[in-house]
Amino acid sequence: MRATFLPFCRPSITEEDIAAVADVLRSGWITTGPKVAELEDMVAARTGAKHAIAASSGTALMHLALEAMGIGPGDEVVGASMTWVSTPNMVELRGARNVFVDVDRDTLLASAEAIDAAITPRTKLVIPVHYAGAPVDIDAIRAVCARRGVPILEDAAHAIGTQYKGREVGGGDTAIFSLHPIKNITSGEGGILTTNDDTLANKVRRLRFHGLAVDAHDRKQQGRSPQAEVQEPGYKQNMPDMNAVLAVRQLPRLDAIIERRDEISAIYRAGLADVDGILPLADPTWSHRHARHLFVVRVDERACGLDRNAFMEGLKARNIGTGIHFLASHTHRWYRENRPEWTGKLPATEWNSARICTIPCFPDMTDADAHGVVDAIKEVVAGARTTVAGGIR
Ligand SMILES: *Cc1c(COP(=O)(O)O)cnc(C)c1O
Repeated sequence: MRATFLPFCRPSITEEDIAAVADVLRSGWITTGPKVAELEDMVAARTGAKHAIAASSGTALMHLALEAMGIGPGDEVVGASMTWVSTPNMVELRGARNVFVDVDRDTLLASAEAIDAAITPRTKLVIPVHYAGAPVDIDAIRAVCARRGVPILEDAAHAIGTQYKGREVGGGDTAIFSLHPIKNITSGEGGILTTNDDTLANKVRRLRFHGLAVDAHDRKQQGRSPQAEVQEPGYKQNMPDMNAVLAVRQLPRLDAIIERRDEISAIYRAGLADVDGILPLADPTWSHRHARHLFVVRVDERACGLDRNAFMEGLKARNIGTGIHFLASHTHRWYRENRPEWTGKLPATEWNSARICTIPCFPDMTDADAHGVVDAIKEVVAGARTTVAGGIR
């Protein structure tokens, strides 16, 4: 057994990263300023988007974007229930309704056909999720949304560095990335919205900081000009420089980080191929670069003799951490009680919600760590089989 605990995720932070944060702390300017502008420019350059806007979290940007797009009471927003519940929550908080689509059972991605079928005359927005770092089939989804006249807001929280048919996610429609510590790169907490839409960008920038007027010089200066006036009441969801500088340091390492995650994922895929009942997600069939944000398996009790909770307990007893990404949104208590119409309607989502489990995958893991996880999984599964054969269960 491992001597030390292996968490399912740990941010990759170097001594140089720590020194860069310390430099900002010593600089006398720690809130939004030049480091945020630098991060925004780097993300715009990388994705090819005209605008990149940093804020305090991906969730905050989802809120700002929904408000800027005018989503409100009476509107429907089409998206997957199989996502982090922060997105459906923001839709509800705007007074709009989530219309959930089922996902593919093995990729957890929503298809263009499922989205097409969910669109009604009340649909004001489609939010596809690039799950675990794999891209949705965005060309097909764009074709449907163009035909039905509905805009797209990509939930790219898992997908910084993901490519679809050779193009970086975030350069097309409006997209939101998260820089939460679990994500492939981090600013501690934070998020970035990318868009080519000038009006939307201006509105999100304004709502991000009290609704104050934004002019072209504001970004490069420390704070907003003292004469700036409120154009409409806004929020306070800006990203501090002491956070931005961490992501500024990490972004140039993103490709190396993804390559390392890919190597760990390959060890898992090879090692788990012959373990019955432990089913990794499948990769999409369209051309892509996977960001390998999460390594997710489904624990199929009928084939391996133990359920997801027992599997997680078994790994924990062997000093290995796991997570669940995610319990489907419509299965959370508030949604069960207030939006009960979805229960039972999303079979592939519910099947996965009861079985998915994230195993450790982060760039600072060693190959030996990954092989150790495979061995521990085999032990846990073999233990369950013995117990079943012995008639104890
Ligand atoms: C992390 C995450 C978010 C929200 O990002 P935060 O920066 O944590 O607010 C949204 N959607 C998905 C799928 C996520 O995993």
